[in-house]
Amino acid sequence: MIQKATELLQQYFGYPSFREGQQQAIASVLAGNDTLVIMPTGGGKSLCYQVPALTLPGTTLVISPLISLMKDQVDMLQASGINAAFINSSLSYEEAEAVLYKARMGELKLLYIAPERLENEAFCMTLAHLQVPLIAIDEAHCISQWGHDFRPSYRIVNRIKDLWTVSPTIVALTATATPHVRQDICNLLDITEEHTFITGFSRPNLTFSVLRGENRDQYIMNYVGNNKQDAGIIYCATRKAVEHIYTLLLKKGIKVGKYHGGLGDEERTNMQQKFLDDELVVMVATNAFGMGINKTNVRYVIHYQMPRNMESYYQEAGRAGRDGLPSDCILLYSSSDEQTQRFLIDQAQDRTRIPLELTKLQEMIDYCHTEDCLQNYITRYFGEETMVLCGKCNRCIDDRPQIDMTVEAQKVLSCVVRMGQKFGKVLISQVLAGSNNKKVQEFGFNKLPTYGVLKEMNAKEIAHFIEFCIAEKLLAVSNGQFPTIFMTEQGKEVLMGKRKVLRRSAPVVKAISDEDPLFEHLRNIRKEISTNEGVPPYVVFSDKTLKELSAKRP
Ligand code: ADP
Ligand code: MG
Ligand code: ZN
Repeated sequence: MIQKATELLQQYFGYPSFREGQQQAIASVLAGNDTLVIMPTGGGKSLCYQVPALTLPGTTLVISPLISLMKDQVDMLQASGINAAFINSSLSYEEAEAVLYKARMGELKLLYIAPERLENEAFCMTLAHLQVPLIAIDEAHCISQWGHDFRPSYRIVNRIKDLWTVSPTIVALTATATPHVRQDICNLLDITEEHTFITGFSRPNLTFSVLRGENRDQYIMNYVGNNKQDAGIIYCATRKAVEHIYTLLLKKGIKVGKYHGGLGDEERTNMQQKFLDDELVVMVATNAFGMGINKTNVRYVIHYQMPRNMESYYQEAGRAGRDGLPSDCILLYSSSDEQTQRFLIDQAQDRTRIPLELTKLQEMIDYCHTEDCLQNYITRYFGEETMVLCGKCNRCIDDRPQIDMTVEAQKVLSCVVRMGQKFGKVLISQVLAGSNNKKVQEFGFNKLPTYGVLKEMNAKEIAHFIEFCIAEKLLAVSNGQFPTIFMTEQGKEVLMGKRKVLRRSAPVVKAISDEDPLFEHLRNIRKEISTNEGVPPYVVFSDKTLKELSAKRP
């Protein structure tokens, strides 16, 4: 079967071979299994039903919510010599009838329809008389309330099989891979885990970096200035930030454009076209920019602020390096981004989505704090198991020593528990830092044994460390409007001394050899200093303390 499929791929589509994942998905479909295909946008999902459609008798039905894309797809298929047609609201009654007539005569290999059609019983009866071996449900996440694009009419597609006495095979396709959505699709369409194929999320030509605590404006000026010839996109979370960066770059003489929802249609189209034509080198934009644009030579995508979830991040960052050449994806993170995103999420129309959005936001924050390979974090997020490190993201190439932060983590965990596991990051940090503000006093937290036990760090550094503990899954965050932090099973293991916590990007870390006179000096000043057991031993203290102490260096 797959031999035949490869021949058809070459004959009709002119591609020499299948991409990663396509072949397995097609084999599953051709074996008659109801199948779920998850690939990123541009990954090549269409072939997973188009090729089977060519090998199977009768007409493959394609359900697609994107009316505008139906025509493109059908035109393309026809240009390749494949009989295909669509029925949607853009056709007149007569035109639709003509298409159905062709289908009845067995002249169509593929028929595209919009899901709303299925609400019409007469139309369904007509479909029931066609020979339909396969139904492709494109953008299948629309079936899930957990998806970002739920469509009530998609609910009906799970009953469509019953129209025929011999059930057609179902193939559902989507780029959304979150566990919730995946499970929903599988449940509603009766697809098993073993027939779910997730592939193609890794992009080896992209180099990911997360930078924290940078002067972001300065970083962007330098980066763009050093890469003047390269096309790049800078994504901002707000229109205001777009205007700000745009103005900075413009003053610097960069050929820069801007794009956000506050600009008129004409200006936006104009900016976009100039960017596509390489007249503008850099585009500063909100997430409104990029849908459906196909510019392959984008050498970098910088996020000036953290976006709201990993799906958005990866979709936006993934606009770099479409041509397969090495490209950078840089995220500039500051903890204030979290507030910005919480605010934006809170503005959402649909209140029921807020808990989900907050969970997703936390996974985005975890990405900013993880010390794992970033490429791996991404592919794992999208459900692909990878073991290999990319070797080039700024986590992989971080050669700062790993510092044993077990004691610090225990202090945090213990404090969280003592505070009753019902407070947020800010208050916990303040208690650990020994801050004496009103709320701390009100709750009597200044009397806790853990009060001030991390006072060598400031509250901000502690908050970062807490984020790190969350990313390491020692702590977790509740979903409510006021997120509270609680301890996980892994956290318990740390608290009981069964698990170590190593941290690389600790802002409070400086390596000092025990032969350095400063080493003993520091040990004397700080009673409970953390030292690494390795060689040379390392001392842990805050930047501020370091500056003060260095000044007094003996
Ligand atoms: P998706 O629906 O997953 O977003 P498409 O099916 O529209 O992606 O495919 C994206 C692009 O990749 C198309 O231009 C398609 O022709 C191309 N493509 C798909 N499969 C292959 C392949 N095996 N070899 C080469 N190009 C492919
Ligand atoms: Mg598609
Ligand atoms: Zn890596």
